[in-house]
Amino acid sequence: MNADRARVRRLLAQLRDLRSAAAAQPDALVLLDGDGRVRWCNPAAQRLLQLAWPRDRGVALSERYADHAIGAWLRGGGADADDVPAPADAAVRLHVALIPYGQRRRLLLARDISRMSRLEQVRRDFVANVSHELRTPLTVIHGYLELLDPADVPALAPVLAEMRAQSQRMRQIVEDLLTLSRLEMRQNLPEERVEMAPMLETLRKEAEALSHGRHSVVMEDTAGADLLGSPTELRSAFGNLVSNAVRYTPDGGAITIRWRRTTTGAEYSVTDTGYGIAAEHISRLTERFYRVSSSRSRGTGGTGLGLSIVKHVLNLHDAKLRIESELGKGSTFTCVFDATRLVTTNGKE
Ligand code: ADP
Repeated sequence: MNADRARVRRLLAQLRDLRSAAAAQPDALVLLDGDGRVRWCNPAAQRLLQLAWPRDRGVALSERYADHAIGAWLRGGGADADDVPAPADAAVRLHVALIPYGQRRRLLLARDISRMSRLEQVRRDFVANVSHELRTPLTVIHGYLELLDPADVPALAPVLAEMRAQSQRMRQIVEDLLTLSRLEMRQNLPEERVEMAPMLETLRKEAEALSHGRHSVVMEDTAGADLLGSPTELRSAFGNLVSNAVRYTPDGGAITIRWRRTTTGAEYSVTDTGYGIAAEHISRLTERFYRVSSSRSRGTGGTGLGLSIVKHVLNLHDAKLRIESELGKGSTFTCVFDATRLVTTNGKE
C-alpha cells in the first residue's frame, strides 16, 4: 500500500517536472488532439502565438488563425516552415513545425527566429547592394576595353585580350549575383503557360551552338505537356543545365535533353556522357561558388552560381533538382515538376 502511494507520488513529481520543463521552454509548444484542437500550451505559446491558457483549451487552431499566415500554413499540411510572421507582431518571425505523436496527436512547435531572419536579410541586402554598386564601374571599364584596338599596340594584344575576358567574367558574376538576389526576394512568380515545344527546340539549338559540333545533341519530347510558371526564369534554369552539360563533357560526348511524363508529373532532364561528379560533391553543388574543379569551371566561363540559380528557380515552381552522376561516365540533372504545374498540350489540365 505504502509502496503504491510512494510510486504515485513519484509519478506525480515526474509529471510536474515534465510540465515545468515544457513550461520553461523558450519555444512555443502546443499539444493538439486529432481534430487540431488545443489540449495544452506553454507560456511561450501564449506570448508567440497569442494563445491564452486555460481559456483556449479546446480551440481549433485552423479557426483561430483562419485569417493569418499560420492558418494558411496549417491548411497547407503544416510542413516545417521558416519566416512565418507571429500573430501578435509581424516583425517577430517564427520557425513552425507540426510533429505527430501518440494516436493522431500533434505537437505544434514555434521558435522565434527573428534575429536569424534579420541577419539573413542583412546578408541578402549586402550582396544585392555590392553587386549593384559594382555593375556601373565594371560596365565603364568593359566599355573602354572594347574601344581599345589591339592593332594600335600589338605588343599589348594578349594583355588586352586577357583584360577583356576577365572583365567579361566579372560582369557575368555580378549579373548572376543580381539574378540570385532578385530570385531570393520573391515568394512566387507569375504563372504563365510556358510552351515547352519551342523552348526545347531553342535549348537544343543553344546546345549545338555552344558545342560547335564537338558533341552529339539529342532532344526527346514525349511529355505532351506545357508548364505553368515564368518563361524567362525556366528558360534560364533549363539553359544553365544545357550549358553545364556542354562545358563538362569532353569532345565526342553525347548530350540528351528530355521532357517526359512521370507518375507524379513531369521531368525535364539533361544527360551527358562527360566527366561526372564524385558522390561526396553532389549534395553541395547548388551552394554558391561551389565547384568541383575551379580551373575547369573558370576555363569554360563558369561563375559557380549556375546551379544555385537553377535551385532557386525550381523552388519558386515547387519543383526539385535531382542530380545523378558517376565519375568518368557522366551526369543527369533532372528538374522534377508536380502534376499541378502541367497543362496538357491538347488543352486539358
Ligand atoms: P559553374 O559556373 O562552375 O559551372 P554551376 O553552379 O553551374 O557553376 O556548377 C557547379 C559545379 O558543379 C561546377 O563547377 C562543376 O564542378 C559541377 N557540374 C555542374 N554541372 C556538371 C556536369 N554536367 N558535369 C560535371 N560537373 C558538373
